[in-house]
Amino acid sequence: MSNIRFRAYEITLSRKPVEVEIPKQRTSEYYGEMVFSMEVMRHFLPREVFLTMKNIVEKGGKLDRLVADQVAAAMKSWALAKGATHYTHWFQPLTGSTAEKHDSFFNLGDDGKAIEQFTAYQLAQQEPDASSFPSGGIRNTFEARGYTAWDPSSPAFIIGNTLCIPTIFFSYTGESLDYKTPLIKALHLLDKSATEVCGLFDKSVNSVIATLGIEQEYFLIDSALYRVRPDLMLAGRTLCGHASARDQQLEDNYFGAIPERILAFMKELEIESYRLGIPLKTRHNEVAPNQFECAPMFEEANIAIDHNQLLMDLIERIAKKHNFTAVLHEKPFAGVNGSGKHNNWSLQTNTGINLLSPGKTSKSNLRFLSFLVNVVKAVHDHDDLLRACIASAGNDLRLGGNEAPPAIISVFIGSQLTRTLDEIEKQGRRKIKAANGSSHDLNIPKIPEILFDNTDRNRTSPFAFTGNKFEFRAVGSSANSATSMVALNTIVADQLRQFVEDVNGMAGKTKGKDAAIIEVLRRYISESSKIRFEGNNYSEEWKAEAEKRGLKNVNNTVDALDAYTTAKTIGLFERNGVLTGREIHARHEIRLENYVKKIQIESRMMGDLAINHIIPVVTRYQNMLIENVKGLKEILTSKEYSQAAAPALMTIREISDHCALIKLWVAEMIEERRLANLILEMNERARAYQQNVLRYFVLIRERIDKLELLVDDELWPLPKYRELLFTK
Ligand code: ADP
Ligand code: MG
Repeated sequence: MSNIRFRAYEITLSRKPVEVEIPKQRTSEYYGEMVFSMEVMRHFLPREVFLTMKNIVEKGGKLDRLVADQVAAAMKSWALAKGATHYTHWFQPLTGSTAEKHDSFFNLGDDGKAIEQFTAYQLAQQEPDASSFPSGGIRNTFEARGYTAWDPSSPAFIIGNTLCIPTIFFSYTGESLDYKTPLIKALHLLDKSATEVCGLFDKSVNSVIATLGIEQEYFLIDSALYRVRPDLMLAGRTLCGHASARDQQLEDNYFGAIPERILAFMKELEIESYRLGIPLKTRHNEVAPNQFECAPMFEEANIAIDHNQLLMDLIERIAKKHNFTAVLHEKPFAGVNGSGKHNNWSLQTNTGINLLSPGKTSKSNLRFLSFLVNVVKAVHDHDDLLRACIASAGNDLRLGGNEAPPAIISVFIGSQLTRTLDEIEKQGRRKIKAANGSSHDLNIPKIPEILFDNTDRNRTSPFAFTGNKFEFRAVGSSANSATSMVALNTIVADQLRQFVEDVNGMAGKTKGKDAAIIEVLRRYISESSKIRFEGNNYSEEWKAEAEKRGLKNVNNTVDALDAYTTAKTIGLFERNGVLTGREIHARHEIRLENYVKKIQIESRMMGDLAINHIIPVVTRYQNMLIENVKGLKEILTSKEYSQAAAPALMTIREISDHCALIKLWVAEMIEERRLANLILEMNERARAYQQNVLRYFVLIRERIDKLELLVDDELWPLPKYRELLFTK
């Protein structure tokens, strides 16, 4: 650490990496030590109780009081032995971050003696004062009660001195107020319909889980610099800042050597993640300077999402220890890459088969193709819903930004599979041509094993098949993946159920079940062909082509969210029992409100930066120039003077021009904000923000960025892009 003068500030920039305490044991020896895992339960619980719990964790079901009592007692002993003093229900309200309300184990017994207490009731349910969490109108303030209830399928864990119990969060009237409740329902549903589809091929499969591996991108900014960027602090992104002379054009950051200070942070992040049973596997630099990525090995989707939420917390917390601030915003810096959260998703049977992995036999190939085609069909039928799921003020700035997939949803499957699907489609046509149903021999196309080789990649696609899984790449870096995963798992489950129905409906019309399957797949392939795109998603041609195909390119959150409340979407969620119409409307309202608040904060911040930070400094510099000009006039001849004063005079005028416009636009923006705030209907208010307020950001910013290049570097009040992005 050293104090350095940084323009107007005296700040402390960290130079040396912070020392990380490396555990003496091997990773495998401390991995999961802070998790109340199956292993721990096996150790702490009577065999009977353990088996009951195991069954509940794996298959769901009701927990009786006796079992809960014993689990609570075991959890308490384990947690106290690990030094925990408090416990909390850990839940994911619709704010986007996780919530906790810590209670002490400490209690006074009847005899007035101090004891440590933790009962089944405390484990199973809590009643946090929920009035300050968003409910989209579901929970009136007079009925502010919200409840959390234990989710036994995700293990409890200890952070610091607190035992954290993953829970769902719902209102007094039973409506879900969190991300987890619909997720669990969707995953359950998917299990049911995917198992049914497996039954068409293999009777031994009796359950299917969704697997999820989430790649997380983020920026690390030196905390000292971060603290003097009020926009980063309050809005999570920079609202102005001229491009650095060098940023990512040399393409030297990606997979480059990781700087020492960052590496120390990453090491600690890994150690803490391992303790919490988060199986972090990869770490590397990303494309933009000071941008990084980490990814755990895939896990069951509910757990993967809990772990991702935890990981985001850890990233932020551990970054602070290393004098960095983690920035998880989708587009913190204009002109350099933004951050995403790639959701790698697949389906796995209880027999250990990855259903999106091509098989060796024609039977398993047909099963693989069935799942593949059904996923494509589901995305085709509900592309607007998926688009709605990834919508946020932050992601609006990233999608289509030439580094992230566009706002057009499409599916990439690779050239081999494209050929295979084309073949199935053609086969069907030939068959139709052959009169009187004299059906040809069934010919299940072979899938070349080359698929396993990941060479056939398309990194521009929002939804890409990558050999044995799909990768939903359009999710924003700060998002809770549950929103997208609820939708994806529901549409696939719904589609798979339809598939079984369609196949059964063909009974008697084809020679055998396989022929019926092929016939249905053929129809799906042709019905969903417009969603498949193999080319460059970043290109202008694709925009034109997509429009021709009738695919939507919705470039902002407010419009994208419309798809959330259509009769089609509500019908989908209601018939599958994942969300009710009321819950969907509430979620829609919350997301719009969130959008409005984000833009409102940014807009206020923009006004503050422009009027209180930039203009005063710029005026000071202008006055220096005016003094200079006056001085020149005093000492020079009038002939000399006109030449010598010209540059300063030009700058003086330019500064005046920029400042005049900035002042005008800020005033106009404030007026638009006032008008927008008068609108009561949230959808309309959000639209007013999107159309009337947001557009000033680009205008004002452009002028501020020009001023940044005009004004004396010494005076500029904000750390510049080159400093934010290259201080390591
Ligand atoms: P990339 O080239 O996109 O970085 P990786 O091979 O590093 O891809 O994998 C990215 C993520 O995909 C990891 O989290 C990994 O665990 C996950 N993944 C791999 N197989 C599956 C699967 N069957 N289901 C879900 N996620 C998977
Ligand atoms: Mg990836």
